[in-house]
Amino acid sequence: ATPAATMVGTTIGAQNGVLFKGGDILERVRDVDTVVFDKTGTLTKGEMELTDVVALPATDGGAVEGEAATDGGALAEPEVTEAFVLEVAASAESGSEHPLAEAIVEGARERGIDVADPEDFENVPGQGVKATTSHGRVLVGNRKLLADEGVDVAPAADAMDRLEREGKTAMLVALADGEDADGEYRLLGVVADADTVKESAEAAVTELRERDTDVWMITGDNERTAEAVAERVGIDPDNVMAGVLPEDKADAVEDIQSDGRRAMMVGDGVNDAPALATAFVGCAIGSGTDVAIEAADVTLMRSDPLDVVKAVRVSEGTLSKIK
Ligand code: ADP
Ligand code: MG
Repeated sequence: ATPAATMVGTTIGAQNGVLFKGGDILERVRDVDTVVFDKTGTLTKGEMELTDVVALPATDGGAVEGEAATDGGALAEPEVTEAFVLEVAASAESGSEHPLAEAIVEGARERGIDVADPEDFENVPGQGVKATTSHGRVLVGNRKLLADEGVDVAPAADAMDRLEREGKTAMLVALADGEDADGEYRLLGVVADADTVKESAEAAVTELRERDTDVWMITGDNERTAEAVAERVGIDPDNVMAGVLPEDKADAVEDIQSDGRRAMMVGDGVNDAPALATAFVGCAIGSGTDVAIEAADVTLMRSDPLDVVKAVRVSEGTLSKIK
């Protein structure tokens, strides 16, 4: 392209909230044949809401001081109530700023539960949290987090599967109570958050596919939840990479590009920065973090997935008017 055409392109882009980090980027975008979307915050609003709390029936494993035990303390194996599961989970999560965590804490408060700050707290990126609360040591997170701590997650399998098929992010809650610092965890239950798919996500995927652009999705979320969202927006289940840890997102992009594809990776989070840098074109969307914007070649000012199509059209010179 001539310098003049490049100037026109970057100007039209800017008028449409599409910022290219230079004229050569404009030309690169024209050669993109694959778009890889991050799920949370990119295809979905990233505004989680607590939707479900499941208390698992007591097993032989051991007693937990749930609500039933507080009046007499004589019950050997009290059933755990949903309120107790939520209280424990929310207390642990109140140390975290993750959207999943904030939804749990908010949901607990809305249900009239007093949420106490944890005494100790550790964030395990892409997996969940470990905390020490007034009830004991707590784990809230995915199967891997609990399995790595030796917790048998089988009793929660049915509840997890059901919630995930509904497109929700289901999280396991386990508690090790009592003075014994090395005491075993007991699986208490499951909490689930749901996110909303952005209104224009499906239209963006449809338009990209009509332009013969392959569309993929990468997420740290589990396969079932990921596929439920993919189905809703029209992404082929074969093009979904789920359970990808933050540090592995860049490798996932590399995998997708390994057969010579030229991918534009679209993401919003701190976690996405290495993937944005690895992609043929990195695209930060919406109120993306500074880290994501720094790593990106293209920044979309709005949070609208259709602006990905606009970026492509600007690069082709087929978007001429301000819309
Ligand atoms: P995404 O790639 O969708 O932005 P993350 O990589 O942040 O997701 O997290 C991946 C998975 O790890 C989540 O789906 C959830 O199961 C678990 N997880 C992450 N953070 C938390 C948390 N604070 N509490 C519970 N589970 C969490
Ligand atoms: Mg994300």
